[in-house]
Amino acid sequence: MHLTLLSLCLSLAQAFAPSFADSTLRLNYIFSGDNRTQHIAVDQLSKTAGWYGRRHHLAELFLEGNGQLTMVDQASGDTLYRHSFSTLFQEWQQTEEARHVTKSFENTFVVPLPKRPVDIVVQLTDNHRRVQSMLRHSVDPQDILIRDRSSETPTPWRYIRRGGDSKDCIDVAFVAEGFGDDQMEDFLAMCDSSVAALSEHEPFRSMIDRFNFIAVMPVSRQNGVSIPHQGLWVDTPLASSFDTFYSDRYLTTLHIKRLYDLMTNIPFEHFIILANTTEYGGGGIYNSYNMASAKCPRSKLEVIVHEFGHSFGGLGDEYDYGNDPEPMYPADTEPWEPNLTTLVDFDSKWKDMLSSGTAIPTVPDGKQLTTKVGVYEGGGYQQRGVYRPTQLCRMKVNEVHEFCPVCQRALRRIIDFYTRP
Ligand SMILES: [Zn+2]
Repeated sequence: MHLTLLSLCLSLAQAFAPSFADSTLRLNYIFSGDNRTQHIAVDQLSKTAGWYGRRHHLAELFLEGNGQLTMVDQASGDTLYRHSFSTLFQEWQQTEEARHVTKSFENTFVVPLPKRPVDIVVQLTDNHRRVQSMLRHSVDPQDILIRDRSSETPTPWRYIRRGGDSKDCIDVAFVAEGFGDDQMEDFLAMCDSSVAALSEHEPFRSMIDRFNFIAVMPVSRQNGVSIPHQGLWVDTPLASSFDTFYSDRYLTTLHIKRLYDLMTNIPFEHFIILANTTEYGGGGIYNSYNMASAKCPRSKLEVIVHEFGHSFGGLGDEYDYGNDPEPMYPADTEPWEPNLTTLVDFDSKWKDMLSSGTAIPTVPDGKQLTTKVGVYEGGGYQQRGVYRPTQLCRMKVNEVHEFCPVCQRALRRIIDFYTRP
């Protein structure tokens, strides 16, 4: 190894090694409430073998998300690690049902196991990006009640495509949902097709070697997934179903603890759950998971790429479908999503990518739809007050075959954040 490269590697190792063991601390929480209240409670802590998350930018957040987790060293007060995420719980709080009932949702986060006692701070933010609820609790890594799972046998898994060592790459796990023992070859074929679909899109095409893709194969007792609007209920490893929040195409699992249990001692950072169904649907939640139908036609694999834009890239939806009286993106707040703006702080978004003379907002040029970067009104489910970068993008319509230039840049930056000092 070249000396400069060696010394660089040593300095990176030093940044991680003084504070963390090469193990994972798993933190399970219950988030509960209704449309106005939130409560965060610790559920259970455990530790597993190896740390497969990032080893750079440990105390930084790349995107804000709708919630943040911060690990603070108790002795020095230094921030050791940060993580951001969005949750199904917060989506549910926007629904009509949340006006009438209190519900609870599982949420799990993994962090590198600290060597010394730390405080963990979990906070949830509202759509004005204000902190709405917070929990601070201490974790002593010597606590005998942190369940040690490092010797448990992992679920069967294998590499689909390996870009390099886990320390240098982003580990993406495809998880089989609803595949019986005799259907795993189908699942593995779908994993290959999904990697191919991702690889057709920049920046994944040119940065594919920054990723490791693995297939995790829990055997389902029954084939398929639950489709409540058809009265179909199936016993599967993640108990996932369509009709999430009564939206027929919205396919999710609420059983996050089961998902992480399946991943014990397996190298992963991001999930793509492939459901054994021909019924079209899916869902993607930032730094939580991406779930999609596995057996839809090849052309429909775009939904996996779109949902990965949400779950991995933190990209917002660039389509609109009306004007909600309570918009998800209020006019007085700049969204944290890199591909949406309310023009409150457009300088922080893609202003530098506009060619000179581009009007803000940009009026579409006739009926011809283009990928020319501008500031087009309509996005984030709203026709008014939210602006998107182009007329065509993977985050807007299924028919195009690329992410727009702004989404591509955002994805390149997040890949660098995970894999470069
Ligand atoms: Zn875009």
